[in-house]
Amino acid sequence: MQDYIVVGGGIGGVVAYSILKKLGKKVLLFEKLDYLGGCAGTFKKDGLFYNVGASTLVGLDENLPLDILLKILDIDKNTIPVLPIDPAIVVYTKDKVINRYKDFERAFEEIDKNFPYKNNKNLWNRVKKVSTNNWQNIYKLLPFNPKNYPDLLKKVITNLDYFLSGIKDSLMTAEKVIRHYIPDPDEDYKAFLNSQILMATQCYWDEVNFSFASMGLTYPNLSNYYVKGGMSNFLESIVKDDKNVLKKVKVKSISRVRDIFEVKTNKGEFYTKKVILNRTIWDYCELLDESLKDSFCEVSKKKYSKLWSSATLYFAVKDENNLLSKHHYQILHDKNPYTDSYSFFVSVADPCDSVEGYKSITISTHCKIELWENLSKEEYTEKKEKLKEFILENLYKKIPQFRMLPKTDVMIGTPNTFNRYTGRYKGTVGGIPLRRKYTMLNYPMGITPIKGLYLVGDSVFPGQGYPGVTVGVFNLLLQVEEDFREVFYRYI
Ligand SMILES: Cc1cc2nc3c(=O)[nH]c(=O)nc-3n(C[C@H](O)[C@H](O)[C@H](O)COP(=O)(O)OP(=O)(O)OC[C@H]3O[C@@H](n4cnc5c(N)ncnc54)[C@H](O)[C@@H]3O)c2cc1C
Repeated sequence: MQDYIVVGGGIGGVVAYSILKKLGKKVLLFEKLDYLGGCAGTFKKDGLFYNVGASTLVGLDENLPLDILLKILDIDKNTIPVLPIDPAIVVYTKDKVINRYKDFERAFEEIDKNFPYKNNKNLWNRVKKVSTNNWQNIYKLLPFNPKNYPDLLKKVITNLDYFLSGIKDSLMTAEKVIRHYIPDPDEDYKAFLNSQILMATQCYWDEVNFSFASMGLTYPNLSNYYVKGGMSNFLESIVKDDKNVLKKVKVKSISRVRDIFEVKTNKGEFYTKKVILNRTIWDYCELLDESLKDSFCEVSKKKYSKLWSSATLYFAVKDENNLLSKHHYQILHDKNPYTDSYSFFVSVADPCDSVEGYKSITISTHCKIELWENLSKEEYTEKKEKLKEFILENLYKKIPQFRMLPKTDVMIGTPNTFNRYTGRYKGTVGGIPLRRKYTMLNYPMGITPIKGLYLVGDSVFPGQGYPGVTVGVFNLLLQVEEDFREVFYRYI
């Protein structure tokens, strides 16, 4: 009998598993694929690895979530297979190239050189101040699970300074604050700002508050890392061949017999007191048998609408002379009719991971799910080809080296692909868009209506990416595991 079974080896599942194990719990993790990481995983093809989606790692700076995690797990940061990258991203707008450097002053100069607006400095100083304040205070909010206004009020009162200092930035849209400094930014600057905000919040500037947007705008000012051997390797370096982390084990259904959960998999049945599902709030019910089904998933599907998926291209280029000298390029373009988005992100493997001169490339872009629904097989195949052509043409225009270099066949991923591999509902990725209309009472939390069954991952507070999902696990365990509180507060 296990204390916990963790279903899914994405970031949330692995972080939860590792902490529970460190706390001395009897715990198993089942991952249906043959690699860890889910959307932040790495698959292999013809000797090369390809990052599925995520390709930049942040959160290792002092006191950021991954730094705290490694301290809790007693893992030496130097053993993590990462390379610092700076600039984190090179952004190509219509006619500009902007290096997003880590050093704030240098990063600002680069922006100001390209978009010389009078009040730029004041705007970016405010962006920096707000995001720094958020990072410094995030743990004070935990455990965060306000159920009603009085509950929320208590949280506000205990963190009054933070709430008072941030209230204006939380109530106003990013657009409103930005326009306060720069009333009429040109189309290129607007596109640049929106692309940076979208990457981290899944929203455009008129949907998200300035507080969250500031964290997206300063993402490159945190230490950004390339993970050697692919993103899965970060999680592998945490679990280190742990025999209780079982890959290729697919959970088929979960039921409860009295106080115990029965977890049925393709490798047999397992019994546990508690279950942590690394699934989204929209689809976790798919795994529950009739006796456990609740209406939470269905309600969530309706409540959190307009979710993004992603479209991806995977291929390798022969780049022996390192003409592609950066790891991440972001290309802004006119609306992509096959995804409804205005930019895509290009990740290039480091020379240390090249095979016979070939470097693997992952290109990803936000994608509207409905554009890929209800297609016949022929329509689907044709649309994938058009998507590929659109992206490659735009890539070649901006960075001609990509056209010149010999390359392998291109594999194309769509929302259907994300659904098939990660199990996520309709291929939704990136978690909950941090829209203003979802108030603090509206964000989904990891505690489900079913006793002993919890959720981790990017669909629960505070959201996506390595830092967000890790904080979400801290938040859950602070509420359900007393032993964790003592450990956690030792390090923050
Ligand atoms: C294209 C793209 C680019 C991104 N870029 C970045 C980035 O650069 N940096 C960053 O930090 N974040 C990035 N993100 C966001 C980040 O990848 C996600 O927020 C994060 O990986 C989600 O983690 P999760 O814990 O929700 O798990 P998921 O990624 O959803 O993984 C869930 C896991 O559970 C497994 N599973 C599901 N059902 C079962 C079952 N029945 N039995 C067993 N196993 C099961 C799946 O196979 C999967 O491995 C990106 C996301 C995308 C899509």
